[in-house]
Amino acid sequence: MALALRDGLPSHALLFEHLADAVYLLDPETSRILWCNRSAYADLGLQAEEVLDHSVLSLQKDVTGLPQWKDIAQVIRASDSYTFVGRHRHKDGGEIAVEVHTTAFTAAGREYFLSVARNISQRETLDPLHSSRDERLRFALDQAMDGLWDWDVVHGTVYFSPQLKRMLGYGPDEMPPRLDTWTRNIHPDDRDQVLSLLEQHMRGRLMRYEAEYRLRNRNGHDVWVHDRGKVCERDGSGQPTRVVGMVQNITDRKLLELRLEKLASIDDLTELPNRRAGMAYLNQQIELARRAGQPVCVGVLDIDAFKAVNDRFGHAKGDEVLHQVATLLRQAIRPCDYVFRSGGEEFILVFHQAGLETAQALAADIHCALQAKDWEADLGIDAVTVSIGLASLTHDLAPAHKLLDAADLALYRAKEQGRNRTCSTLDV
Ligand code: GH3
Ligand code: MG
Ligand code: MG
Repeated sequence: MALALRDGLPSHALLFEHLADAVYLLDPETSRILWCNRSAYADLGLQAEEVLDHSVLSLQKDVTGLPQWKDIAQVIRASDSYTFVGRHRHKDGGEIAVEVHTTAFTAAGREYFLSVARNISQRETLDPLHSSRDERLRFALDQAMDGLWDWDVVHGTVYFSPQLKRMLGYGPDEMPPRLDTWTRNIHPDDRDQVLSLLEQHMRGRLMRYEAEYRLRNRNGHDVWVHDRGKVCERDGSGQPTRVVGMVQNITDRKLLELRLEKLASIDDLTELPNRRAGMAYLNQQIELARRAGQPVCVGVLDIDAFKAVNDRFGHAKGDEVLHQVATLLRQAIRPCDYVFRSGGEEFILVFHQAGLETAQALAADIHCALQAKDWEADLGIDAVTVSIGLASLTHDLAPAHKLLDAADLALYRAKEQGRNRTCSTLDV
């Protein structure tokens, strides 16, 4: 390595010892601190051995686990110098605002990250924005966990607080203070609705602006946020000139909610939608088909003599049969069709834009697929057959329950005629 210092001057090691900024050498794979200078531990009130060999994640409050570290490591590798604004934990429980610049390099075939962390607590208080009209308010809000934005409608500029930038993984000098910096980061599926809510508030149609949506963070991942805002200044003609708002990171809660929602709508045993989710879908399809004047057919499918499977081979084997029938149904129907477990050994099929004739052909495919399957080899049981009752949407049968009653009647007929067949309302 070329030495930048002439003889007689302090060694590199000594210079690092006296550097006010904290310097860390990291193992990118494990996030372990391989080496650090004195400021790196002394600033945090720690001893060298309390930092060395520990994960860099243990020092700071914004990166919560190794998966997130791995994402950040990818971005660090892809950029010349990665800037991260975050908070380091002090031994006394307090926190220190830091701006960390990290570079990746390879030496003797091994990859390293070199991070330089500067304490910016002072800078945050001296920021010129803090001495503006709402100095104390803004300072208080900036110290809060939530992000703050302040939109000057007349000049088209937006102030994004350090916390908001940090929430999205950006450094203090990133995120240009313009409205499109925000709009471009809104998830495309959420954008129209969010902008419409904001517009309705600005026109005075909504008391305040409030939305839950996804914002893209620096690594391209989505952060779920709860965003609330209010017009706080208007010009002489009542036009909004300033809007301020707060953004809360609700990712953990939202992901849990989505998982619970999924759990609540999926049948455990067959992994098909359950009755509740299926009926909601069916009602929606009936409404859409009616409005578009298009056909739709439902099929009620019941496994034949299923009680005998349980009686002969046991309940557990019966469960396996249910699971395999469900898998087979999903494969046999077209991608646009839908199947759910309505209860017990009964399933409901929704044939999209299909009249009775099409539905009959699709039902025939199901009988064939069941017949073609080698049940003996797969589960050690005899053939599994089903009976299906079909009904197509008509004016009289528009409510879902009437349509299903008609399909049930057709199913009853199929059972009566000897099972392993399909009957439709035409046969009743
Ligand atoms: P049919 O051809 O007339 O439909 O005769 P079946 O034996 O299929 O009809 P029945 O209604 O008499 O019996 C249905 C059986 O399905 C009774 C019940 O124990 C069984 N069953 C319902 N849900 C489950 C389940 O989740 N797992 C298992 N293993 N059996 C179930
Ligand atoms: Mg049944
Ligand atoms: Mg049955």
